[in-house]
Amino acid sequence: MSTLNFHLEKLVRDNVARLKPYSSARDEFKDFHEDMVFLDANENPYNNGVNRYPDPQQVTLKQHLSSLKRVPVDQILLGNGSDEVLDLLFRAFCEPKTDNIITLPPTYGMYGVLADTNAIANREVLLSDDFQPQVHQILEQVDHQTKMLFLCSPNNPTANSFEGERIIQLLENFRGLVVVDEAYIDFSTEESWASKLQEYPNLVVTQTLSKAYGLAGIRLGICYASAEIIAILNKIKPPYNVNELTQKRALERVLDNTSVQNEITAILKERDALSKVLLEVYFVEKVYPSEANFILAKVDDANKRYEQLIKRGIVVRNRSTQALCENTLRFTVGTSEENQKLISALKELV
Ligand SMILES: *Cc1c(COP(=O)(O)O)cnc(C)c1O
Repeated sequence: MSTLNFHLEKLVRDNVARLKPYSSARDEFKDFHEDMVFLDANENPYNNGVNRYPDPQQVTLKQHLSSLKRVPVDQILLGNGSDEVLDLLFRAFCEPKTDNIITLPPTYGMYGVLADTNAIANREVLLSDDFQPQVHQILEQVDHQTKMLFLCSPNNPTANSFEGERIIQLLENFRGLVVVDEAYIDFSTEESWASKLQEYPNLVVTQTLSKAYGLAGIRLGICYASAEIIAILNKIKPPYNVNELTQKRALERVLDNTSVQNEITAILKERDALSKVLLEVYFVEKVYPSEANFILAKVDDANKRYEQLIKRGIVVRNRSTQALCENTLRFTVGTSEENQKLISALKELV
């Protein structure tokens, strides 16, 4: 697709295009110095560290993410987890009861839930047997009301990355937004698609601090896209969607990249060891290759094995009800001690 064929103004909802965003006290006064007297936001004046509203644009955190990920600040939007970022995309671009999206089962369940919440039809096109997007079938489902296509790579729950050539074909032939969910990118051997934002104006990349960065509890999701797309999302986001404690904690972690990388290395080592051991378990029929921090395995009877593990105090995810995932269990890679408990339990099962 040439850039000429992509018209962002045709994708955005009319009401959003017309919307005048809420202007907060912090938006209206930006020339901020610590020693000023702030009587503009009806805050409690007694300092306890969080008595002031947080920075609605999270400038400091974005600047550090910008240099770490090599994406300009005006091409970054932060949210209360990537789930909020995904919801903002629906609300900005999908007209309820009119528009549709395409998802590729088996995949992350939130896309479908968000589609239902926003009254958007979800056109499902199964992945191939080796869990790759079926480009031709996907493009056949596209009509003028198709606003977004969700590609989860590495994909949850199948753990594989999608082939770059297929993603490029979709970026070049679909005129809506191609959202690449990279929640697991830090465990992958692939480069982030965020490096391709200049080439593809319809590309949106989401990441999160919930997985490799170990901060699921603080809720910090990241969206990378063109400055134009980010400006639209900024219009509709709640002004203070990322709280002060989250901004502080996320910044500390982003500045401590060595610890993050060490944990990722340890998790990858554990993952590869666990994959090998799983293959030796007599009721495990297949262990899928993983580019993430979890392993999908096919077993003889997933419901039975799931219950047996619960009785031994180990909770895994039964993915059997998902398309192409009959009798599969998804194992998150834990600490070496936790994985050892899992392995011992698996070896005891009859
Ligand atoms: C875990 C996960 C997320 C993370 O969502 P957050 O709201 O940022 O915690 C996003 N996408 C996929 C595919 C995931 O598995």
